[in-house]
Amino acid sequence: PGCLWVVATPIGHLDDISARALATLRAVDLIAAEDTRHSGALLRHFGIDTPLTALHEHNERAAVDALVRRLVAGASVALVSDAGTPLVSDPGFRLVRAARAAGVRVSPVPGPCAAIAALSVAGLPSDRFVFEGFLPAKAAARRVRLRELAGEPRTLIFYESCHRLSESLDDAAGILGTDREAVLARELTKRFETVLAAPLAELALRVKTDADQQRGECVLLVAGHADTAEAELAEGRRVFALLREELP
Ligand code: SAM
Repeated sequence: PGCLWVVATPIGHLDDISARALATLRAVDLIAAEDTRHSGALLRHFGIDTPLTALHEHNERAAVDALVRRLVAGASVALVSDAGTPLVSDPGFRLVRAARAAGVRVSPVPGPCAAIAALSVAGLPSDRFVFEGFLPAKAAARRVRLRELAGEPRTLIFYESCHRLSESLDDAAGILGTDREAVLARELTKRFETVLAAPLAELALRVKTDADQQRGECVLLVAGHADTAEAELAEGRRVFALLREELP
């Protein structure tokens, strides 16, 4: 069988494409892309003319079958999404799963990912974090999800569409706490990149009163629940003290 390469592409700045990503996209027989027009423009920019095929939510089942058949027959295929790392809030899960099940080698060509880029500059605890992807678009479901996360001690990472950002920030402030530390990372690697850090209520107000903050693409990070984190630490210390007493 051939190989399925899962290739990360830039989240803004085109120079973030890796040398290995370019070589792979040039070498494969076929590139499966979320949006062939969008990826076609990227490939043209780098002078790559590898054939493209669409793999998106709406044709996934049929496309996966066809791609796995080609892979099993020996073709090499690269999977890309519109931006960043495929499968991270992007299509590809079914293809990767099916390829692996068919005994095809699946290999990553790692690179940009908005969640990790945002975490790397947020200044929030980064040793443990939870990637939540997009919050539900409907208010009721969004609030249920936020309530479920209220006691989570790890740093929370959300993708958010900028036109829903203001609503989501209001809900987050109301449910997670107005004083909870948060960071909004917008337009990373692009011309209007901004990283704002403030307590949730302040961040909500800032976004509401500054229309510029409601443009482009953004990642919202929220500090984990402090008491839960401290309680876990205290529990760890208690268990450790008990164990030490028992040790020679
Ligand atoms: N697969 C991508 C990745 O690895 O980050 C994510 C795809 S998801 C459909 C798109 C979301 O990622 C946007 O709504 C935004 O939340 C985030 N995003 C993508 N590019 C970004 C950027 N340059 N700055 C901030 N957030 C970005």
